[in-house]
Amino acid sequence: MVIQKASPISINMLPQDPLISRPEQVQVDRVQFGDNLSGPRLHTQDSVPVAKADSDGNYLYELGTPEFDQVNTHGIVSRALATYERYTGHVMPWSFKGPLQVNPHAGEGKTAYYSRWDQSINFFQWDSPSLGKTVKTSQAFDVGSHEIGHAILDGIRPGLLSGTEGKAFHEGFGDSSAIIHALQYDTNLQQILTDNGGDFSKPSLITRLAEEFGTAFNKEDDNPNNDDHPYYRTALNEFKYKDPKQLPSDSYPPSQPEEVLTSEPHSFSRIWSGTFYSMLGALYNQCAGSAPSQLEALRQARDVLGTVWGQSLDHLPAANLKFRHVASGVLREAAALEGGKYFDSLAAVMLDRNLLTQEQVDECHQGPKSEVRLTAFPQTRGGAQDILAQLGRQDQGWTPELALPGAEGRRVYTFRSPQRVELDLGARGPAYMQADAGLTLVFDAQGKLISEVATPLSTDDRADLQRDARAMADSGQLVGEDGIGPARLVSRREGTPEFQVLPVWKD
Ligand SMILES: [Zn+2]
Repeated sequence: MVIQKASPISINMLPQDPLISRPEQVQVDRVQFGDNLSGPRLHTQDSVPVAKADSDGNYLYELGTPEFDQVNTHGIVSRALATYERYTGHVMPWSFKGPLQVNPHAGEGKTAYYSRWDQSINFFQWDSPSLGKTVKTSQAFDVGSHEIGHAILDGIRPGLLSGTEGKAFHEGFGDSSAIIHALQYDTNLQQILTDNGGDFSKPSLITRLAEEFGTAFNKEDDNPNNDDHPYYRTALNEFKYKDPKQLPSDSYPPSQPEEVLTSEPHSFSRIWSGTFYSMLGALYNQCAGSAPSQLEALRQARDVLGTVWGQSLDHLPAANLKFRHVASGVLREAAALEGGKYFDSLAAVMLDRNLLTQEQVDECHQGPKSEVRLTAFPQTRGGAQDILAQLGRQDQGWTPELALPGAEGRRVYTFRSPQRVELDLGARGPAYMQADAGLTLVFDAQGKLISEVATPLSTDDRADLQRDARAMADSGQLVGEDGIGPARLVSRREGTPEFQVLPVWKD
């Protein structure tokens, strides 16, 4: 699939959080907006009439109208998607057919969510006593970019539903999406440099995620420790990677102070969002040495980060993801970009965060152990099965999952191997779940295998799944078979019910 050539129109939208930015006219691709906020990828729905394009195709509504919120949300998610498509060079598919429904006024609440089941992203709002206004997530740049991040990641790797690190990476991917998307607007770049003076160890517009939502949320929750935090999460942190089983567990929203890292996915995700921000800082410092201005250094750093990040997604595991796989994928791309000139800067970040050992960093310069060259890219599952035979992996229960376009004309094949994991859900009794081992194979445009990422399900991984399932059962988060929630129990004829993690990502 080739990205359609853009035909630009103008929309009014907030290029950052409503607490710190004013609406701007932004250019977007007309195809994704149509005459009524409806295109092949995104379709906005509302209980009030949906905004219409003017006679020139533009959407220039004023802040304060419901149409502004609709256009703003559609604009944020569309531009975040376009940012990924530009850096990867290919269409980012959804995990379902048809357009994603965008619901800017989904109801009352301090939340937003993406649901594969409903094929929708949903934005809620509430009357905030602390700010004396209605806080609308439909106006929140970081929230919109985060939620569409869930949809984008789910499209390329639908197998990242379970496991502490897979769930946490989904959240870290959302926050990384908010950061890389915010860097696409010059007004934001200028404000970042005004805030931090070019010192990326200091807070700025780009470190503070969901300013208005967080400012109100923090003042109104039961936690007195966060009342003065002007964000919902910050990417400015020094968290080092730790095995999640060595960390305390927590509920969500967090009951622990911000400084405490827990195994709850949103908390644990901060290791990745902190790493992502540190990569930006390291690249900025390197680019500042030769760029004519701070602004130009930041633009260069942004595009290096966007390129290695976008291209590294090809290497993501199909299931059972760990942060170290993500870090290795990034360094693999950094080794190949511009003669590896940014490799050392980014490797230093991965080492500092304990994401990789020096030996694992060195391995990022090497290709896969197996030498396989395809003469043609298989288009069918049967064809993908033949690749396994060439690799000597045909007997390991791998089921072909997806054949995806990759960066630079690559082809990416994902496979999963379903395995039964027995669970003890305490008062809810015994259950089982299906968890997957994953295999990702990446071929370059000439058909040469360039990476092979296998993620078998270890005893440790099974214990992690048991811990997570038990925590959900103990805290009453299991929902009925029809309900919405993080997981459910489904009766099975043979007796033991099946525990299923649901494809819905809240916040
Ligand atoms: Zn999320």
